[in-house]
Formats: sequence, structure tokens, C-alpha cells
Amino acid sequence: MSDEGAAVVAAVQAIAERLEAERSYLTDLDSAIGDADHGGNMARGWSAAAEKVADLDDPDPATVVKTAGKTLLSEVGGASGPLYGGSLVFASQELDGGITADTAVAFAETYLEKVQDRGDARVGDKTMVDALVPAVHTFKKSVETDDLPPVEALAKAVAAAERGVDFTVPIRASKGRASYLGWRSVGHQDPGATSTLYIMEELLDAATEHVDVAETPAVDATSPTIPDGEEAAED
Ligand code: ADP
Ligand code: MG
Repeated sequence: MSDEGAAVVAAVQAIAERLEAERSYLTDLDSAIGDADHGGNMARGWSAAAEKVADLDDPDPATVVKTAGKTLLSEVGGASGPLYGGSLVFASQELDGGITADTAVAFAETYLEKVQDRGDARVGDKTMVDALVPAVHTFKKSVETDDLPPVEALAKAVAAAERGVDFTVPIRASKGRASYLGWRSVGHQDPGATSTLYIMEELLDAATEHVDVAETPAVDATSPTIPDGEEAAED
């Protein structure tokens, strides 16, 4: 299996394990402002996705993401199945040329676009969009403007998603089931924003691990490549 394809399969498996571990917490969040199925939806959907991608024969990253998305679409109903699954399937095409900083930004932007096309939610509606918008914008700016390495950019995106999740607590829901509660949705954390954060945290872990294994050159502490004098001269 290609190195990148294998890394994405491992990421899907890590996401499935994490969402299984968070199943009851996500369900608790959804019982407060929804119908108590978000934990089960995510755990069931991603575990089926992990099984499906494990069976692929030598897949590239785009095929792994597309297969995971299709499985979520068929396994998970409600709002989150089509939002997560459909957007993953659609955005997977951005990874056709493999994973680079640029294709990762394109993937993130296309994913967000599709979530917003399908769900018509904006920041402040108390949905997964409240985690996604700051995360995707931070990722893009970190890569394109601040020139950060992709893994550092992703770490900043995760921090932005975390602030987005916190932002969902004091606001009133205007989209999805939680909107039926009106002002009674205030004071509760949005389940979909929370699962989005968990998925991003697992992607960051997987990316960190992959870069460590694949790209960090073996360092030989006894043979410095930069002479002391040159390093000092840079200051
Ligand atoms: P359901 O609401 O159908 O029971 P889930 O409980 O699995 O589905 O998912 C609920 C989550 O879906 C919410 O917490 C919210 O983040 C997200 N969501 C609901 N409606 C929308 C929407 N229109 N746009 C974006 N996200 C939405
Ligand atoms: Mg629900």
C-alpha cells in the first residue's frame, strides 16, 4: 500500500477508535439539545468506515477518504451522515494528486463549502460549522500567508476548532434539531462541533506521526551539518 494511503487508513482507524471512546459523551451532548443519537451515529459510522477502508487494495488517499465518506452516507442517517459523508466524498477529489500542503488546504476548503451548501448553516448557528470555519480559515492562512509547515498549520487549526466548540456553548441554535429548542439551547455545547474537533485532533496526531516516520531525516548528533561559526553568524 502507498505510504500516504496507509497513513490515511490509519487515520480513519484512529478516528473510529476516538469516536467510540467519546460515544457516550457525544450522546450526552445530543441528549441535552437533540435526540441523543450523535455518539451512536459517529461511532457506528466511523467504525464501518474503518472496516471498509481496511479492505481496500493498495488505495491512494483520495480513494480512502471517498470510501469513508460513502460508508458514512450509507450507515448514518439524520443531519450528520449526509453532512460528514457527502462532504468527504465531494472533497476527496482534491486529494487526487496526493497530500501536499496545497491539496490539504483545497480539501479543507471544499469540505467546508459542501457542508455549508448542504446544511446552509453559518457561524453562530450553533453547528459543526462553528468549529469548521475558524479551523479551515486558520489552516489556510497558516499555510499560505504564514508559511508554516502543514503539521504546525493543522495544530493551529485544531486550536481554532477548540475555540469554535467553546463558542457554541453560550449561543442559541438556529439550524438542526437544536433550533427547535430556541433559547433553551443556550448553555449547551454543540455535539457536531465537538465530533468535528475530535476528528481534527486525530488527523493532527496521524499527520504528526506520519511526518515523524516519513520525512524527518535521521539526525546524527556527532556530525553537525552546520558549523558552529555559521550558526552564530545568522543571529
Ligand atoms: P440529527 O440532528 O439528525 O439527530 P446528529 O445528532 O448525528 O443528527 O448530528 C447533530 C449535529 O449535526 C449537530 O450538533 C450539528 O453540529 C450538526 N448539524 C445539524 N444541522 C446542521 C446544519 N444544517 N448544518 C451544519 N451542521 C448541522
Ligand atoms: Mg441527533
